Amino acid sequence: MDDIVLIDLDSTVADHDGQIGFDLEKLRSPDEPSFYSYVKGNKLPDYLFNRMNLIRSTSAWWENLPVIPRGMALVNLVKEIGFRIVVLTQGPKVNPAAWEGKVKWVNKNMPFCSDIVITRDKGLVYGKVLIDDYPEYIEKWVAHRPRGLVIMPDFNYNRTFTTNHLVRYEDVHQLLDIEKVLLKVKNRKIRDKLEM
Ligand SMILES: [Mg+2]
Repeated sequence: MDDIVLIDLDSTVADHDGQIGFDLEKLRSPDEPSFYSYVKGNKLPDYLFNRMNLIRSTSAWWENLPVIPRGMALVNLVKEIGFRIVVLTQGPKVNPAAWEGKVKWVNKNMPFCSDIVITRDKGLVYGKVLIDDYPEYIEKWVAHRPRGLVIMPDFNYNRTFTTNHLVRYEDVHQLLDIEKVLLKVKNRKIRDKLEM
């Protein structure tokens, strides 16, 4: 099996949350609470959710999401080590424009990736490593990959999450340490334990 690293897009390498916050603030009336007052993962009021979906309804919005430098530095490390890079991203079922925009974003910003998997269930997809910020998707993947390594970009909303073989990625100063772990993953034999 190839040495595959699966890489999430939104909030890992593409700044979905930053851009949606910026766009929603532009549409906010002075009497409305800020989008930033809501905790990620909690339900938004309907009017805000509908606005968000309207903003995200074009493929161009997804295609032009800003790159997250911290995430891209990690991707470049993974590439240099020689892993096969596969993008693994969630696709909103009701918004095919997002799927198109995500493919265009990857072609523009990560042309070296060998495949793009857009799915509703990240647990379906094989890899030795998953790089992802979102606990719910990580849990689905780990359920089938108990030996897999997870690298999780650190955010307020995932700070209490933990699982086996988890590296919390706060900033680029950790890349030397992360490189050591990635090399262990790449070089270990079948049934070798991953010492971290
Ligand atoms: Mg994400």
